[in-house]
Amino acid sequence: MKYIFGPVPSRRFGLSLGIDIIPRKVCTLDCVYCQIGNTTKLTLQRKPYVAIKPILNELIQVLKSNIKIDYLTFSGSGEPTLNSNIGRLISEIKKITNIPIVVLTNGTLFYRETLRKDLLHADIVAPSLDAIFSFNKINRPHKKLKINKIINGLSEFRKIFKGKIWLEILLVKNINDSPAELKSLRKAILKINPDEIHLNTVVRPPTKISAKPLRWKELTKIKKFFGNKCKIISYNDKKKSENTGRNVSKYILEVLKRRPMQLKDVQNVIGIDKRTILKEMWLLERNKIIVNNDNWWTLKTSADGE
Ligand code: SF4
Repeated sequence: MKYIFGPVPSRRFGLSLGIDIIPRKVCTLDCVYCQIGNTTKLTLQRKPYVAIKPILNELIQVLKSNIKIDYLTFSGSGEPTLNSNIGRLISEIKKITNIPIVVLTNGTLFYRETLRKDLLHADIVAPSLDAIFSFNKINRPHKKLKINKIINGLSEFRKIFKGKIWLEILLVKNINDSPAELKSLRKAILKINPDEIHLNTVVRPPTKISAKPLRWKELTKIKKFFGNKCKIISYNDKKKSENTGRNVSKYILEVLKRRPMQLKDVQNVIGIDKRTILKEMWLLERNKIIVNNDNWWTLKTSADGE
């Protein structure tokens, strides 16, 4: 499979089948906390990076297998709204399945009316908005992007979109967590009027190792400041045990199929307690299905030998 991955357990979207429609790593931003690595093509140009048909063919194949999927999620190796086929793709997918469609986006292109129209038939749109004053520092945007224009675009989308908008804010220690920044973010949130606000921090290996997370205590204080619609979705979320009991080893293999990971990364993606994951990983290692090299876990290949 080239464009479809998973389903992987997601903290917000249950069993999420990923649809990756952008080559790695094409984006409008180059965030310091990005887990995919540096942006190699910083662009605002929307174009059909991947044709519709091969994506649909892969999706149909997965759907035929009748595995449980809670959401179909546009996400992956870059900014999915840069693919100018996204609107047509959503419409085509709606013809073949009732599984709700989520678009994870950095929200930067909503100032364009064509994009706002493209996403009208999604069920959930989850844009991010991390900063106002420190937008350049944390998100390192394409030089033509302006934060006010982005906020206006998201607010225009709210007026016409009937689905849910879940706004994600990722906070990095000493970059976008100052009182003035949080106050301005709160003002922007009022304008955008999302259904939910999802507070996050650095939990996966960032592009810049200087990007550090906030502590749980700090996040809970900020959650209160943002009001009732706000929830914390980062690693310390006490509700993360909800994946317990599902097929943990299968999930571990799914996430390691994407890239090598350390134990804490696997734990962050799967969102269950460390001891359960460690036990499953030991079993997989003992059965020679995965290998551990200097605390980096990967799927075993024939090159790893006996
Ligand atoms: S918007 Fe997303 S994909 Fe793009 S650099 Fe930021 S975190 Fe990475």
